[in-house]
Amino acid sequence: MPATKPRPNLRIGYGFDSHEFHPGIPLKIGGVTLPYDQGLGGHSDGDVLLHAITDALLGAIAAPDIGALFPPSNPKWKGADSVVFLGEALKRGRNAGYAPANVDASLVLAAPKIGPHTAAIRARIADLLGIPADCVGLKAKTPEGLNLQNTAIAHVVVLLEAHKSARKKKR
Ligand SMILES: [Zn+2]
Repeated sequence: MPATKPRPNLRIGYGFDSHEFHPGIPLKIGGVTLPYDQGLGGHSDGDVLLHAITDALLGAIAAPDIGALFPPSNPKWKGADSVVFLGEALKRGRNAGYAPANVDASLVLAAPKIGPHTAAIRARIADLLGIPADCVGLKAKTPEGLNLQNTAIAHVVVLLEAHKSARKKKR
C-alpha cells in the first residue's frame, strides 16, 4: 500500500472574518466601494469579504492564514488594498496546482443593504478569481438575534480544482 494517497482533484476551503463599523472611512466589500457613511476598521482596508475569501483559499491548501501572512501589527498593511492578500492566496493555490472552481459567501450585517450591490460584488469577485460570475454565490443577511448591529461578518466556502496542466507536469 502506498504511504500517502494521491493528491485530491478537489479541495474545499472555509473562511470567516468580522470587522467593526467606524464613521468617516470608505466601506469596501468584495473589492467594491459601497456608498455609506461608515466603513470597516481594523486590518488593511477592512474588506471583510475579501479577507474571508482569502482565508478560504489559503485553508483549502492548508497554507498559513491571512493573519500569519499579513500580520495586522505590521504598519505595512495599514489601509492596504485587500486585493493584494487575495492575489497572494491565489498564487499559493496555483503553485500548489489548484485554481478556484466556485465560491459561496454569506454576509451578515445590519446595514447598508447589500442587495442593490450584489451583482457588482459578484462580478468583481469573479474577475479577481478568474471564474464566471455564476460561480460566485453571495447572500446578505441581517444579524437577527446576534446583537451585532455595528459589525460586518463574512462566511465563505470555496472549491478548488486541480489544474490540468499542473497535474500533467507532476505525473
Ligand atoms: Zn479582516
